[in-house]
Amino acid sequence: TSGSEENDVVIIGGGPGGYVAAIKAAQLGLKTTCIEKRGTLGGTCLNVGCIPSKALLHSSHMFHEAQHSFASHGVKFSSVEVDLPAMMAQKDKAVSTLTRGIEGLFKKNKVSYVKGYGKLVSPSEVSVDTIDGGTTVVKGKNIIIATGSDVKSLPGITIDEEKIVSSTGALALKKIPKKLVVIGAGYIGLEMGSVWRRLGSEVTVVEFAPDIVPSMDGEVRKQFQRMLEKQKMKFMLKTKVVGVDTSGDGVKLTLEPASGGDQTTLEADVVLVSAGRNPFTAGLGLDKIGVETDKVGRILVNERFATNVSGVYAIGDVIPGPMLAHKAEEDGVACVEFIAGKHGHVDYDKVPGVVYTHPEVASVGKTEEQVKALGVEYRVGKFPLLANSRAKAIDDAEGLVKVIAEKETDKILGVHIMAPNAGELIHEAALALAYGAASEDIARVCHAHPTMSEALKEAAMATHDKPIHI
Ligand code: FAD
Repeated sequence: TSGSEENDVVIIGGGPGGYVAAIKAAQLGLKTTCIEKRGTLGGTCLNVGCIPSKALLHSSHMFHEAQHSFASHGVKFSSVEVDLPAMMAQKDKAVSTLTRGIEGLFKKNKVSYVKGYGKLVSPSEVSVDTIDGGTTVVKGKNIIIATGSDVKSLPGITIDEEKIVSSTGALALKKIPKKLVVIGAGYIGLEMGSVWRRLGSEVTVVEFAPDIVPSMDGEVRKQFQRMLEKQKMKFMLKTKVVGVDTSGDGVKLTLEPASGGDQTTLEADVVLVSAGRNPFTAGLGLDKIGVETDKVGRILVNERFATNVSGVYAIGDVIPGPMLAHKAEEDGVACVEFIAGKHGHVDYDKVPGVVYTHPEVASVGKTEEQVKALGVEYRVGKFPLLANSRAKAIDDAEGLVKVIAEKETDKILGVHIMAPNAGELIHEAALALAYGAASEDIARVCHAHPTMSEALKEAAMATHDKPIHI
């Protein structure tokens, strides 16, 4: 096996961080082995995260549109129903095609792939308990830890993936729950809540904090919450779960105001716990070689992704920073560029964030709250989707674009978009931000008509001039 020869780079974990690092390392001419315990490549993202959730979001959106929107577009049929096994099969097909695709990319790039659980035995050796029951030692001049993250539970709540599920269970429910309670109003909870809401579940989101998705721009967040409420998602904010009883048919939750007070109960058929994720380093042997972690178990690295142990690096969800697939990928590329003696770079201020509900909410750069806190003088340009011709043409005009620019220089500081396909629209703003563009730069670029991108152009106009269509 690959253990017999020394590698330039050994990567533990085959998620977006690890597999991208492996391919890039091989492309840079480094002899590379990737170790993955799951049996398939792609990590959380492809197997139980980004990809299956987007598959179900799309399928459930189609059902919802068929039920509620087609008729007004003059498309009529007598009945529409959900075939849940078929919906799940389409999701599974998307996952297996993509994970197999990465195996193909490994072969193409000559990355060795070892299926098994890797444990650090020294700063240059990983012992692997292979999936087929054997053990092998893989040696490398450099080791990259890309072991990702795992679901976080809450004290007193045991996830059984049937009645009390994590996002993994919520992606594979066998029937549509009548009542779904989501604990945690982060993007994962809201996306999975949206899926089941569209398929017919009554969805209540319980959140300890006063707001949903805390990282979002406050003004956009308010509109976002209103939109979810219009879709009949219920919110119980500033509320904590203090008890869970699964002895009956369903689940009975005991709730209490976050600041203390009278208890209430809430019943559900299924409870989704989406209260965040923990870095995953179980059984990895970090102590054995002395790799430093912070209080919550994230591996500490410097700007070159190097841990305190020479030759050992870490990237992705297992280190501090936004727990996002594209961030893990950027880490992976930059880390191997450093190892190869080149220069790597990730700008963490410009990592886009997207919530894939309908409409989507996407942002890049700073929120208005962050800009205020920095004491920078700024201007805000806004444009509602209601005034965008394409959005009106397709009767999908809920949302807005908000551009925040520095007052003195007009330099773009942050862009926030709530719109169908906002996750695609945001990259024009990401590019502008990366190039240090002024909002006038966007405003003076010719945008095709009719497109929703014109809403970004008009919001950019509104920071320093007047928009045309409102
Ligand atoms: P992971 O993807 O977690 O991969 C780590 C891999 O390492 C795993 O496959 C694991 O089996 C393996 N491993 C761990 N320990 C060992 C060991 N000792 N030996 C061998 N192998 C090991 N992010 C987005 O950007 N967009 C989204 O839309 C999005 N949606 C999400 C939806 C859900 C429901 C969830 C749960 C997450 C979502 N994420 C999304 C987050 C995204 O999945 C993660 O940020 C990303 O997967 C992190 O990549 P990673 O490579 O660091 O770790």
